[in-house]
Amino acid sequence: MPTSTNWIDFRAIRQGVTMKEILARYGVQLRQVHPEVLRGKCPLPSHSSKSAYSFIVQTRKNLWSCHSSSCAGARNGRIGGNVLDFVAAMENCSLRDAAGRIVGWFDNPIRKQPVAPPRVGQPDLAEEGQGSNPALKFALHGIEATHPYLAVRGITAETAAAFGIGFYGHEGIMRGRIVIPIHNDAGELVAYAGRSIDDTEPKYRFPKGFRKSMELFNLHRTAPARCVIVVEGFFDTMNVYQAGYPNVVALMGSTLSELQERKLIGHFDEVLLMLDGDPPGREATEKIAGKLAGKVKLSVASVPDGTQPDQLSAPALRRMLRPEPVRRITNSVGNRPAESPPGETIKNRARQDER
Ligand SMILES: [Zn+2]
Repeated sequence: MPTSTNWIDFRAIRQGVTMKEILARYGVQLRQVHPEVLRGKCPLPSHSSKSAYSFIVQTRKNLWSCHSSSCAGARNGRIGGNVLDFVAAMENCSLRDAAGRIVGWFDNPIRKQPVAPPRVGQPDLAEEGQGSNPALKFALHGIEATHPYLAVRGITAETAAAFGIGFYGHEGIMRGRIVIPIHNDAGELVAYAGRSIDDTEPKYRFPKGFRKSMELFNLHRTAPARCVIVVEGFFDTMNVYQAGYPNVVALMGSTLSELQERKLIGHFDEVLLMLDGDPPGREATEKIAGKLAGKVKLSVASVPDGTQPDQLSAPALRRMLRPEPVRRITNSVGNRPAESPPGETIKNRARQDER
């Protein structure tokens, strides 16, 4: 039975002490990569990998996460949490003991103003870490991974299996479509996209309530702290993946939401934009580059005019992506992207390989 002397208000501690204060207590220094995001080396004893930038703190939400899978695995699969979870992980103690320590360190932390008063009616994002669609309560069964449509789109059986996609012939809104599972940051299934296999409209069908702008497709399969290729669509992602570039995510469109921006900056050191080579794609590239400039290392792939990444052969993609793939964009805030280098050779070579 709790008594007045051992009763601890976890919620008040969560809201009264900032991650910054806790990090300072441990002498942990992180880099400010965004007005609301700190990043750096993971200080947790559960961390064994060499990844240098896997530890992320979202200062406004007062949450932390480490995206090293071995580190999360050593903490029962938890990617991150709040101040109490952090101290418990650092000290290898219970939440109750962590709360006790925090109260001892800070002068009555529960009297302070809440760090981030939760807005009424807003779900607690602590579990999701970054804000996400809720996990689906079911999964589709009977997905045929070897449908001819996938071969037509150049998707190999291995890639189809890796992404869990295939033809769905059973009852429901996805009937007769290629279904593509979409996961949140934590790897939970949150939706299926249903691609029509003829020219039936809509080309893509999504479940009601699903918000594309809250996710980056394929983010949960990428390695954090490295360069990520950003494409528009699902098939772009899969084509780039099977060309040997597993660190690829899709916007599921050609706009970058604020949440998607935060996820990119929070997870990766470098972003390579590889949107479609048509006027809307070029325009979107400029817009997105403008948003990201100065916040992350940024470059733009020279996708040939009139093509998109899902139409390029693996050799064409590889030639585009190395050794001189892209036009570099300056790293300082407010600078306009540099003009494209001539790049004609690359473009011409890529054209011959198109399918
Ligand atoms: Zn870690």
